[in-house]
Amino acid sequence: MARLEFFGVRGSHPTPSAQNLEFGGNTSCVVLYSDADPDGRFPLILDLGTGLTRFAETQPHDGSFSGTALLSHLHFDHIQGLPFFAPVDKKGARLEIHGPSEDGKSLQDSLDVLIGSPFFPVMLSELRGEIIICDIESSKMILEQPGRPKVVPHLVDHTNATYGYRIEIDDKVVVFIPDHQAPLDGSSFVKNSVLELCQGADILIHDAQYTQDEFGKKSHWGHSTYEYSLAIARLAEVKSLAFFHHDPRRSDAQLEAIEQQYQQQNADSQFHVFAAREGDLVRI
Ligand SMILES: [Zn+2]
Ligand SMILES: [Zn+2]
Repeated sequence: MARLEFFGVRGSHPTPSAQNLEFGGNTSCVVLYSDADPDGRFPLILDLGTGLTRFAETQPHDGSFSGTALLSHLHFDHIQGLPFFAPVDKKGARLEIHGPSEDGKSLQDSLDVLIGSPFFPVMLSELRGEIIICDIESSKMILEQPGRPKVVPHLVDHTNATYGYRIEIDDKVVVFIPDHQAPLDGSSFVKNSVLELCQGADILIHDAQYTQDEFGKKSHWGHSTYEYSLAIARLAEVKSLAFFHHDPRRSDAQLEAIEQQYQQQNADSQFHVFAAREGDLVRI
């Protein structure tokens, strides 16, 4: 039985406030562990948002850290934790990062622009651990080595090059699509490639930033609604759906009400739906 922990569930930007304490204010970061790794020594990190700094608190700072990260895309809310990830700033530590290139610019080139002067005082290459940065191609399996999870990335619609990931771990399937543009016309049409990515997943962690009303005003901002993520879950016959990438203005009270509403509406569905909370540990 694999396990999964939410360290950041918010979209767009961090939102520390008294009204957000239950669901949390940190941005996108989820960590997966295989059952074959009961001590959690080889984490698979999904996105490097500010939630990564919370994850860092659980990790060794003595140079023994070793982990792999899958980056959905390069927007701030998905990478802002990386320059503050202290476990990799020790000799002997190792972090492998897989993610998209765009417009002929490698992932390494893009990260070097953002993490370096004048945006940040230190470059990634100056951290004392080993950081390996790999461009990936859509639909081409990565991490194929024995004993590691199987990962298939697939480009999904958003505003920049963005991957969704299908991860097979301990005979379970986890699908991570934190940012996903729903059809501009508000319909529930789902591309075959997205259905393939999500088909039969044990858990789908999906962009659910907007209500239908909000989507009417921000349809081209690159995100999904609660209804659209539910449509994908139904069509792809997933077992569990986690609303993710919560709008930064959504309070705990609003998220609780939304979660309750959709749990009641889908009480007879084949899947369980919930709103991801920072600190939630899910056994798959
Ligand atoms: Zn985002
Ligand atoms: Zn984005």
